[in-house]
Amino acid sequence: MTAAATQGISTRGFATNSPEAKFEPFNFVRREVGPNDVLIDIEYCGICHSDIHQAKNEWPDLMPATYPMVPGHEIIGRVSQVGDNVTKFKVGDAAGIGCFVDSCRTCGACTSGIEQYCMNLAAYTYNGTEMDRVTPTYGGYSDKYVIDENYALKVDVDGDLAGVAPLLCAGITTYSPLKRFNVGPGQKVGIVGLGGLGHMGVKLAKAMGADVTVFSTSPGKEADARKLGADNFVISKDAEAMGALRNSFNFILDTVSAAHDLMPYVGLLGYGGAMVVVGVPPEPSMFHQGSLIMGNRILAGSLIGGIHETQEMLDFCAKHNVTADVEVITPDRIEEAYDRTIKSDVRYRFVVDMKHA
Ligand SMILES: [Zn+2]
Ligand SMILES: [Zn+2]
Repeated sequence: MTAAATQGISTRGFATNSPEAKFEPFNFVRREVGPNDVLIDIEYCGICHSDIHQAKNEWPDLMPATYPMVPGHEIIGRVSQVGDNVTKFKVGDAAGIGCFVDSCRTCGACTSGIEQYCMNLAAYTYNGTEMDRVTPTYGGYSDKYVIDENYALKVDVDGDLAGVAPLLCAGITTYSPLKRFNVGPGQKVGIVGLGGLGHMGVKLAKAMGADVTVFSTSPGKEADARKLGADNFVISKDAEAMGALRNSFNFILDTVSAAHDLMPYVGLLGYGGAMVVVGVPPEPSMFHQGSLIMGNRILAGSLIGGIHETQEMLDFCAKHNVTADVEVITPDRIEEAYDRTIKSDVRYRFVVDMKHA
């Protein structure tokens, strides 16, 4: 090995050092490209709301913060180096990284292709460790990532990649539950909340052929909802409009992470209908079991997707021309983007341009 090889790959990132700290340039070293690894030159990284929760240590029990933290798990870029055994990628290929970069590969979840539920805990893309449980992982607010090819995603897009980045978390988070409940033509689908996740839910459900209704508390979002492809728009506080829709939906995706009552939405499901929640409000919700029992309804949760399904989602999006609506920013504006994301003042995802970081 050369001296350079033992030192690994110098990487420029942006890190925060405490819940209150501002992001600052942070130089660190990625591992050298191993036989099964690819080096990705990052072009864009989306800002997911969970970046904010973790950077500010708002999930101390679920995902305690370790600093310095380089967030970012909606990563898109181009392969600039491949290891000797790599077959899936060649130099120049577009490639993506989602919420995890490795897993145990042997447990029931990993061998079933649902690595996100790895029973030995997957290696999260940031604010975690590699599977050695020692080496910290740093995310996509950086210019390079070294990853095993089996955990990187292929992206078949010719044009600009900015709108593809959010598919790696917001896209798969909404695609997986839609697929699980076989959403398709002739079905009535509700999307609750029109933020980063909700706007992807609308686009994907439409691309799958469903009739889509957006539920929102903001009347100002109707024009946007329809522009994104929604067939109907309902103000969720309008009891009359909600009442008229009782028992009529096949599937509802609830993307809201603010405290809210689930019961009005469950009541909209028809016989055997399913609602999946993907947002985590700070406090537990009250819930009446009778609303599920009457109507044979299903209430479920869902966490991102496995590597195979994430690839399927990216291929689906390429085929149907689905990308996220994004606002591209330079890394010096991460705090501003965080503040605006917290205020829901973004249509619909901030993406950090890492090409010139
Ligand atoms: Zn995310
Ligand atoms: Zn596993």
